[in-house]
Amino acid sequence: MSETLLQLKNIFQEYGTGVRRFTAVENVSLTLSDGDFVALLGPSGCGKSTLLRIISGLQPASSGTVLYRNKPLHGVNPFASIVFQTFALFPWLSVIDNVSLALQVKGVEEPERSKKAEDLLDRVGLDGFESAYPRELSGGMRQKVGFARAMAVEPELLCLDEPFSALDVLSAESLRGELLELWTEGKIPTKSILMVSHNIEEAVFLADRIVVMDKEPGRIIAEHIINLPHPRNRKSPEFQTHVDQVYAILAGQTRPEKEELGTAPGEPGLTRRLPEVEINDLAGLLEHLAEGENPKHDLYILKENLGVESNDLLRLTEAAELLGFASISKGDIELTPLGQTYAEASILARKEIFASRLRRLPMMRWMVSMLRAAENHQLKWNVIEAALSLEFPPDEIERQIDTLINWGRYGELLAYDDSSEIITLELVRDKVL
Ligand code: ADP
Ligand code: MG
Repeated sequence: MSETLLQLKNIFQEYGTGVRRFTAVENVSLTLSDGDFVALLGPSGCGKSTLLRIISGLQPASSGTVLYRNKPLHGVNPFASIVFQTFALFPWLSVIDNVSLALQVKGVEEPERSKKAEDLLDRVGLDGFESAYPRELSGGMRQKVGFARAMAVEPELLCLDEPFSALDVLSAESLRGELLELWTEGKIPTKSILMVSHNIEEAVFLADRIVVMDKEPGRIIAEHIINLPHPRNRKSPEFQTHVDQVYAILAGQTRPEKEELGTAPGEPGLTRRLPEVEINDLAGLLEHLAEGENPKHDLYILKENLGVESNDLLRLTEAAELLGFASISKGDIELTPLGQTYAEASILARKEIFASRLRRLPMMRWMVSMLRAAENHQLKWNVIEAALSLEFPPDEIERQIDTLINWGRYGELLAYDDSSEIITLELVRDKVL
């Protein structure tokens, strides 16, 4: 048995006063042991940051027990350190001094202090920026300084609050690699990492356990173990299976895939059509649903608020449900945690979430497998049309292919050339689908 570091038992957090009082965190229990890298996933407002603050002792919980090494935690947790999404640096100190300060507080003397600070900056890719001031740096670079500073403290428990979400794609990827190397090769004395993330692939890439939360009230809804060795191959089927499983949890999927989604063309069973909707309209619907105070929306009122025809709304809500972004029951529609995550995500993250869900739809699976088997991963429109002629009536075939192309383009799975009418399989980030 590995050593238990942190234990949260039945944590509740309430905020506000009087009628405004509400439960932000409800009955959360969580244990972190030596060797655990845990990712905390869930929509904005489900209490992730609150939990990190409680764990690091920056705020006491309204009720419940926080134990560190089996002792109740009082005040700031000396074993934990947090990296925030946007790390507050001291603006009057140079980059190296910002890092050195953390070492000085720890009692590291010169000349080792400067050497170590330089080494840490080097590791996060800031070689050459030692004497720069925070205001001269991009957001991404400032985050790297924040990382270097947190590493300098050598915390036993490293808490990361969406540490990569403000970074550009390449910086984020390189910093993830750095963190993983430090962690898996035991180059830092840190015994456990708790990382808040909005990014499902990132969580599956880094963590060994994913804790999924939902909001209103903020609570844990599921845990998912990822027993893949590092370094993980994003292209491997095992990796994709875990990604899909986490998506399924967030989408609240309860029925088996085949039952929920129907089958692909050519397979026995009912081929489920794609509802013909524009991604922009779908995004608009999800944003609208995410705005309201009440998580449940009456479909009838929604129709009035959005000013759309019943048929359009039906197609939109069907698409939202098919992709796992919303659930519909008794005339109400409600966003799933995945739908909330989508509504709050950046353009790029939205594309990733969408692409992940799109890949599993039988129609798209079928299209991708046809293209994969074709020369140069390309097929003419009329080849696809002919292949679908046993499944759908002619006008439906056109709508299905249009929708596949529109959705596939947005998710960057497919490319389409209008003049030659050629559909091409896109190889996203060297990921062969
Ligand atoms: P997350 O990090 O998952 O987005 P937070 O922990 O920041 O969630 O917030 C959870 C809920 O508590 C949100 O509704 C938020 O508005 C509210 N909240 C957070 N901090 C405070 C606070 N200090 N006072 C009042 N409400 C707060
Ligand atoms: Mg937060």
